[in-house]
Amino acid sequence: MHELGVVFHMIDMLEKVKEENEVEKIESVTIELGEVSTVIPAYLTDCWKWAREKYDFLKGSELLIEKLPAVTFCEDCRQEYETIPNGKTCPYCGSKNTFLLQGNEFNIREVEAW
Ligand SMILES: [Zn+2]
Repeated sequence: MHELGVVFHMIDMLEKVKEENEVEKIESVTIELGEVSTVIPAYLTDCWKWAREKYDFLKGSELLIEKLPAVTFCEDCRQEYETIPNGKTCPYCGSKNTFLLQGNEFNIREVEAW
């Protein structure tokens, strides 16, 4: 479980946001999380709830998670397909010559503060 590390990394970034924008309190943070990212949303939320209490500017803030679907691209037939049901094998032509286009993301997309 590395979600706690992820949360501390997020808090570092949020502290920079806070300083640069001179905000006192962060209301909510929206992150984009890819479907095949190794971060587990439920653990992330738990870690967030624990960590936010240790920082005045984050107390009571909400963590919102937007999931991004995983999409793989096939280099042989040049089609895109859903990663989860198919894995690394293209469902159109059976090729394994494929790579993940999206689905591994972990980004802070929006921060609401005042
Ligand atoms: Zn293919």
